[in-house]
Amino acid sequence: MHSFHYRNGKLFCEGVSIEALVKEHGTPLYIYSHQTLADHYSKLDQALAPLDHHICFAMKSNSNLAVMRTLANLGSGFDLVSGGELRRVIAAGGDPKKCVFAGVGKTEAEIEYALRKKIYSFNVESEPELIRINKVAARLKVVAPIAVRVNPNVDAHTHAKITTGTYENKFGIQFEHVEAVYARASKLKNLWLRGIQMHIGSQLTNVAPYEEAVNKMLGLVKKLSAKYKFEFFSIGGGIGIVYNPALASGSKEWWSTPQGKKIMTPATYAAKLIPLLKPLGLKILIEPGRFIVGNAGILVTRVEFVKKTGKKNFVVVDAGMNDLIRPTLYESYHEIVPLREARKGAALISSDVVGPVCESSDYFCKDRPLPKVGEGDYLALLSAGAYGFVMATTYNARQLAAEVMVNGKTASVVRERQPYPEIWAGEKIPAWLKK
Ligand SMILES: *Cc1c(COP(=O)(O)O)cnc(C)c1O
Repeated sequence: MHSFHYRNGKLFCEGVSIEALVKEHGTPLYIYSHQTLADHYSKLDQALAPLDHHICFAMKSNSNLAVMRTLANLGSGFDLVSGGELRRVIAAGGDPKKCVFAGVGKTEAEIEYALRKKIYSFNVESEPELIRINKVAARLKVVAPIAVRVNPNVDAHTHAKITTGTYENKFGIQFEHVEAVYARASKLKNLWLRGIQMHIGSQLTNVAPYEEAVNKMLGLVKKLSAKYKFEFFSIGGGIGIVYNPALASGSKEWWSTPQGKKIMTPATYAAKLIPLLKPLGLKILIEPGRFIVGNAGILVTRVEFVKKTGKKNFVVVDAGMNDLIRPTLYESYHEIVPLREARKGAALISSDVVGPVCESSDYFCKDRPLPKVGEGDYLALLSAGAYGFVMATTYNARQLAAEVMVNGKTASVVRERQPYPEIWAGEKIPAWLKK
C-alpha cells in the first residue's frame, strides 16, 4: 500500500500534484509520503502487538532527518551502522537509548561515542570486536550492553548482494561458535550480555527463511538466555516489498515471488513468527528498513531527449545512477510511470531509460515497454524510498537531489538541492600549486 496514485490522469502523492512539485522544486526530485511511512510502521507495530517488541528502523535505508523524525515520533528506535548515523539520530530528535549499533568495523571512537550516548545494544560481529568494546567500556568505567550477531547459515533466497545469513558473508558469528563466544564474553568485566541477534538478508518476500532461522536459533536462545538473563532477541530486518506489481509468475526477475505465492505481509510474518517467539518471554526487536520506507518514496525525473538508434529507443532523463544506483548495483526493478497517465490502450514502445552520467551502467531499465514520452515530460521511478537517496553521490559533479515530504495537502522540502559550491566544499588547492 502506498499513497502515489493517479487522480484525473495526474500522478499525486497524497493530496499533492507531483507536477506542481516538480515545477516548484525542479528535478531530479525525491518525494516521500508521510502517510505511507506512518502506515507501514503501524502495520508492523500492530502485527507484533502480541509480543513485547520494539522496532528499530534500519536507518541506512533512508536517513533523511524528516523521515527519521516521522518514525521517532511514532516511537521507533534505530538500527545504525556508524558513529555518523548515531549523530544523525540525535540530529533527527531520535533517542539513542532505543538504538542498536551493527556493523563489522566499529572503531574505538565510534564505540566510545555510542557508550557516552547510552545506546541500547551493540550487535557484535566478531570476537576482536567484543574485546575492543570491553576495553573502551573499561576506560570509560561503564558496562557496555552487547548482543552477539549470530550467522544462522540460512539461505534467504534473495539477491547475492543483499544476502547476509550464510557463511559466505562477512556478517555475524558462525552458529556453532556462538555458545563459546558468549562464554568468553561473560568473563569480560565491562560487558553486559543483554541479548542475541540475527539478520539473514534483505528483500525477503517469503516468511519461510525467517521461520527456518528462528527455529534454528530457538534452542540456543533459550539455553543462553537462561544462563545470561537476556533481555532481548533481535530477529533483524529484511522484510521485502513489491517492486513490480505485475509480478508475472515465471518471471526471471529475482524479486518476483514463486508462482502462485503471495508476497509476505506483516500479518503473515507475525502469524508464523509470534508462536515461535512468544514462549521465549524475551523482548523481540526487529530492524526493518526497506519495508517501512521503500514504497513511501519516488524519484521524479525529466525527459531531456529521446534518442533512437538502429536497435534502441533511449529515453535520456536528468536523473542518473548517482541519484539512484539500485538498478546498476543490484539489477533491481523500479516501476517507471509518466506523471500524466497514458491513455488506455496507447501503444507501448520498448525503451531504455538512461541517465546523463558517463557510464554504460547508468540506466534505470532496458527494453521495457513504456508509453511514448518526449522532451519535457516527466517520469516517476516508484519504490525508490529505500536505498535510494542514501546511496547518492556527486559523481560527474552532479548535485545531490532535493527531497520533499508530503503530508496530506502539505509538501515540505526536507532537503534542499545541493548548491554547486558544496560539491567541492572542503577541497583545497595547496599554496604550492597556486601561481
Ligand atoms: C540492512 C540491515 C537491516 C535492514 O534491512 P532491510 O532489508 O532494509 O529491512 C537490518 N538489520 C541489519 C543488521 C542490516 O544490516
